[in-house]
Amino acid sequence: MPLAAGPTAQIIAIGSEMLTPEKTDTNSLFLTLELNNLGISVTGKQVVSDQLHRISEAVLECLVRCDLLLISGGLGPTEDDLTREAVAMALGRNMAFHEEILERIRERFRKFGRPMTERNRKQAFVIDGAEVLPNPHGTAPGQALEIDGKLIFLLPGPPREIMPMVMEHVLPRVSAHFPLPVLRTFTFRIAGLGESEVDDRVAPIYTRVANPETTILAAAGDITLQFRAIADTGKEAETMLAALADPIRAELGERIYS
Ligand code: ATP
Ligand code: MG
Repeated sequence: MPLAAGPTAQIIAIGSEMLTPEKTDTNSLFLTLELNNLGISVTGKQVVSDQLHRISEAVLECLVRCDLLLISGGLGPTEDDLTREAVAMALGRNMAFHEEILERIRERFRKFGRPMTERNRKQAFVIDGAEVLPNPHGTAPGQALEIDGKLIFLLPGPPREIMPMVMEHVLPRVSAHFPLPVLRTFTFRIAGLGESEVDDRVAPIYTRVANPETTILAAAGDITLQFRAIADTGKEAETMLAALADPIRAELGERIYS
């Protein structure tokens, strides 16, 4: 049986500097790790230069192929920060100015005793229909959109800003939105047989399926057989575990003590 197919994700890292030999896109590694922990596979990622049309094109391309699109970078106040405009363009949506966002940015500058420039105004534009994600570690708020059942997130580039935003605002929204696959495990403990003997007897049974996945652990005089099933529901995973455990129980009989 194939592993349960969950939602798929794509990542776009925006920034021409990451297309030079000096700078690496590390945000996508962090994002991939966190998504994998939820059972979501990343099926593609790319680094895109700070060009309106390139970003917009990449967004359209990725949206066709995935359920979840994560975009990092380009939310700053400078000329080369074009992510908001590019995503709005790709989606054919307008943006609206939000005074309360600019006020929060102004407050941040006040706190650090620096004057806010007019440039920061552009960070207060929100794509129509987007939810604003607060950024306590920087000026650029993130944005979250849902389109035809797909989720799109616009996230800041600096790792110290994107990481907390993902943990606090992205992962909870992703888990709530997608029916994520569930994992169930089942364990037999076996006495009085060696590891290779156990494997000789049960491998013909468990190698018939990739899911549940079987692992054998051996410690002095004690063998553990563990089965891990991934399915859409807990009930389904338990049925799959039983279908594998029953013939193995029949094969090993009283050698199983737990
Ligand atoms: P800012 O307000 O700082 O301009 P931003 O959201 O516009 O934030 P960028 O301008 O794209 O983000 O990047 C700012 C800095 O964050 C970069 O100089 C780089 O150091 C870091 N950064 C951006 N993207 C990534 C990435 N994918 N991986 C690692 N670091 C990144
Ligand atoms: Mg920037």
